[in-house]
Amino acid sequence: MSAILEVRNLKKHYPIRKGLFSKQVGAVKAVDGVTLSVERGETLAVVGESGCGKSTTGRAILRLIEPTDGEVFFEGKDVRKLPPEELRRFRTDMQMVFQDPYASLDPRWTVQRTLEEPLLTHHKLGKNELKSRIEELMEVVGLSPYQAHRFPHEFSGGQRQRIGIARALALNPKFIVCDEPVSALDVSIQAQVLNLMQDLQEQFGLTYMFISHDLSVVKFISDRVAVMYLGKVVELAPTSELFTEALHPYTKALMSAVPVPDPNVQKERIVLGGDVPNPENPPPGCTFHTRCRYVKDECRSVIPELREISPGRQVACHLY
Ligand code: SF4
Repeated sequence: MSAILEVRNLKKHYPIRKGLFSKQVGAVKAVDGVTLSVERGETLAVVGESGCGKSTTGRAILRLIEPTDGEVFFEGKDVRKLPPEELRRFRTDMQMVFQDPYASLDPRWTVQRTLEEPLLTHHKLGKNELKSRIEELMEVVGLSPYQAHRFPHEFSGGQRQRIGIARALALNPKFIVCDEPVSALDVSIQAQVLNLMQDLQEQFGLTYMFISHDLSVVKFISDRVAVMYLGKVVELAPTSELFTEALHPYTKALMSAVPVPDPNVQKERIVLGGDVPNPENPPPGCTFHTRCRYVKDECRSVIPELREISPGRQVACHLY
């Protein structure tokens, strides 16, 4: 496998301005130096609590928001330096599936219009070509082409997410950022949509970045997992290894909350004390030190770098 996407030291800081002249007095460090790569054809999950910067990372990679700093290489090209024409092409290669399919679909548009929009913006298709492409997209996500003239409110939540997926597929992308794509759906429907996404990945050779806070979903869908805390990746590992033996104390705490199917297996639940610190004013040193049960002096002042400690396993912690 080779990397389709490489992200180096990506940052997204939101300035805090105050006073009459809107002077910048600080910054909310939503993403603060994320480095990771995504292999072609794999699913990399990005997990963490709400506010850890996982969605902002996905949006900054796609340039839906402009990063403050860092590099994003897609198929070897730095997307932050692409001229307008290449950026247009890049936009067709990378797509996004959003969390709330109802909010991300225009309620005044039929499915047909929703799917037509990207096709007409990027390709010159004749009327018949457009019609057959829309029929094809609907079939591929398990919807009937007869439903093309319906509006979003006429569909169930799962069907609406299928429309969102069809829209993301319209331009034959290579890479899709899936931002909590099933968290708004009933559990019974989640499995259907996840299965569909896996089938589509195989059928079209897609690469996914799968953003989620739900570890059971992540275990099911991903090949590797990046764990984020306060805007940084603190651990990156193959999914099976992470679920067998988490290394970073924060990952251990997250994992301890995952239910075990075997009632004979006793697992210690690690409850994290305190809240996630304010990203406006993160703690010095290791940003997790205010909640870590293994904290030592060094942790309060020295930032632990994300380092490879065995093939494919990276962790940012002074214990390793
Ligand atoms: Fe805990 Fe220190 Fe490791 Fe941070 S660096 S996770 S505070 S042991």
